[in-house]
Amino acid sequence: MSKFTEERNGRGTQEWSEHTYNICVGCEHACLYCYAKPQAAWTKAELRVPGAWAKQKLNPNCSRLGAEVGRKGVVMFPTSHDITPNFLEPSLTTILNLLRNNKVLIVSKPHLSVIKVLCKELKHAKDDVMFRFTICSLNQDLCSFWEPGAPSITERLQCLRYAFERGWATSISAEPMLDDLEGTLALADRVDPLVTDTIWLGKMGPIQWQYNSHVPGFVEAGQRIKALQTDENILRLVAAFAGRKKIRWKDSIKKVLAAQEELAKAAA
Ligand code: SF4
Repeated sequence: MSKFTEERNGRGTQEWSEHTYNICVGCEHACLYCYAKPQAAWTKAELRVPGAWAKQKLNPNCSRLGAEVGRKGVVMFPTSHDITPNFLEPSLTTILNLLRNNKVLIVSKPHLSVIKVLCKELKHAKDDVMFRFTICSLNQDLCSFWEPGAPSITERLQCLRYAFERGWATSISAEPMLDDLEGTLALADRVDPLVTDTIWLGKMGPIQWQYNSHVPGFVEAGQRIKALQTDENILRLVAAFAGRKKIRWKDSIKKVLAAQEELAKAAA
């Protein structure tokens, strides 16, 4: 098992890495489920204004671009923004700095122009890098609604193929899953041949009603996700994926499984 894949006890990003690093505030991808936005908006009221989060900016507090980070293990970059073409240059510098002492897990809804540059410039550190691309559904309409600023699914699949064919370690995150069981099975089948490592499936966290009340169709879309991700449906999903070696459950699904085990113990 590689350092990237080893079992970690933490939740969220801690399931994947020992340390996280970011260089921006805001994110051009503007996902409606973004967990980083409410966290940042907690202290920065200006980020609560509709559209403000999509105005990604370099964070002046991170001007050392990872050069200050010592030996941590696996560092996940980024976690609260993405590597968009506008921020490729400082992102590349950051990854190179982090690689001096660490392995780097690059998590992204990837842009092909970005991935081409990263594959070229990080070639010397191939063994210390893993790409984990976020693809939450193959349904472009769903992704366009929930991830309005992110690259198309076609482009993300092209990135996956591009990295895989050049010998990079690849992995997929479908967290949050946006599709029903059949859609999620179809997604896993489609990406599986291009994934060298793992395919992570997770539920949507708290639905961000408060920040999206102005978005037409949000109430219905949020209710749809809630109905799809009941405990009963998650147990069905887990059963449907039984025996698939690359599949990993995120903490949100492990929690449902643990509750189910407790119920079974109590009933025994
Ligand atoms: S790509 Fe990630 S950080 Fe950016 S808006 Fe989407 S969920 Fe938030």
